[in-house]
Amino acid sequence: MRLFHVSLWLLLFLSSSLRAAPADILVRAKTIVTMDAARRVIEDGAIAIAGSRILAIGPRAEIEAAYKAERAFDYPEGILIPGLLNGHTHAPMSLFRGLADDRTLEDWLQNFIFPAEARNVTPQFVYWGTRLAAAEMLLSGTTLFVDMYYFEEEVARAATDAGIRAVAGQTVIQFPAPDAKTPREALARAEAFLKQYAGHPLVVAAVAPHALYTNDEATLRACRALADRYDAPLLIHLSETQKEQTEMHARYGKTPAAVLNAWGMFEKPLIAAHGVWLSNADLDLLRNKPVGLIHNPGSNMMLASGVAPVGAARERGIPVGLGTDGPAGSNNDFNLFEEMDLAAKLQKVTHKDPAALSARDAFAMATIEGARALGMEKEIGSLEPGKRADWVVLDATAFNAIPLYDLYSQLVYAFKGANVRDVMVNGVLLVQNGKLLNDVHAELLRKAREFRQTVQSSLQRK
Ligand SMILES: [Zn+2]
Repeated sequence: MRLFHVSLWLLLFLSSSLRAAPADILVRAKTIVTMDAARRVIEDGAIAIAGSRILAIGPRAEIEAAYKAERAFDYPEGILIPGLLNGHTHAPMSLFRGLADDRTLEDWLQNFIFPAEARNVTPQFVYWGTRLAAAEMLLSGTTLFVDMYYFEEEVARAATDAGIRAVAGQTVIQFPAPDAKTPREALARAEAFLKQYAGHPLVVAAVAPHALYTNDEATLRACRALADRYDAPLLIHLSETQKEQTEMHARYGKTPAAVLNAWGMFEKPLIAAHGVWLSNADLDLLRNKPVGLIHNPGSNMMLASGVAPVGAARERGIPVGLGTDGPAGSNNDFNLFEEMDLAAKLQKVTHKDPAALSARDAFAMATIEGARALGMEKEIGSLEPGKRADWVVLDATAFNAIPLYDLYSQLVYAFKGANVRDVMVNGVLLVQNGKLLNDVHAELLRKAREFRQTVQSSLQRK
């Protein structure tokens, strides 16, 4: 009888270990914020990862019984969240950070940024500017950024070297740019870039016509056609300033959104940054179209552009993500924790209503809703089986994060980028204990100082 008992237990043990499926990595955390459709928050949770994707997620006991892995990460005092998404930036401009602030957009562009770009933006500048930006983004919990700049193949190369995910948009603009003298040349560069990065695991190549006011109809239609041929999204600045709104109305007799709509720009995936001056009629044109809006509260405040109609857009079912915009003259950092906080507070003060945008909604905009705005919700934005293993662990014991009553309030109003402890992108751990595993600090510091020197002296030249 006793023998039978022992063998029964042995049998049960063997069958349970046989049932345990293989995984590459098991991650255990105090709290897991999934951002799935049910907004499940799992206490004492675990994730099983195979390759770059999540196999399973649930209570720790269940996941540990079902999966076995060689590697494990344990966060008994960690809050694990989906990686934050920076929906709009110009990453290489990190090397122009603080060059000319507290000016109007026109003064800043015409007298500082355009001359500085003409004299300094090279493939090397773009590569190192992006590496600097990627380091700052990863260390503050951002796992994807949407970029719009020149020499975008260097942005993509830097993102890949850093291990961060990117939607990289090759800029198309009517006037001569650092990487192309004409829009035709820019379109050819964009096409070569789309071919080069087709099917890449980290980089989505995109076409980025800068804006309506910097491109004509033929160029914009050519951008749309090119993006459609490669199944790529289009990135554009839309209705950022009142000046843009009134000038375009004078030129075309319609709002920028109405013009772009008439040219068929909203029929296929498009990611529009800002939308500050979109009217209700403009927003009606965007609804039920494959268009996402990216709200950049820090930039809109710093450049005094205005306040985007975030509530009116979301009421219409238009997905709204968050972005930092460029780090020179319009932010000046890459911190999504700051943007979540600003997004919520800017809507509250504008509408004189503390419920205008909740912490829960601001957090969604930086994660799953942002992913929908990018058309990438099947891949990223929440922690669910089948999605990419892109996650961030926050230190739940930090002084600015205790005690904890409301998780989303804490995430948006109390946690800072500096509370980020570990970061994984695409199944690869990139940040551990608040440090980049690929330690490029000394090299980035040297490059930043070198480029500062050349930028400074280039502006003194007449
Ligand atoms: Zn921008």
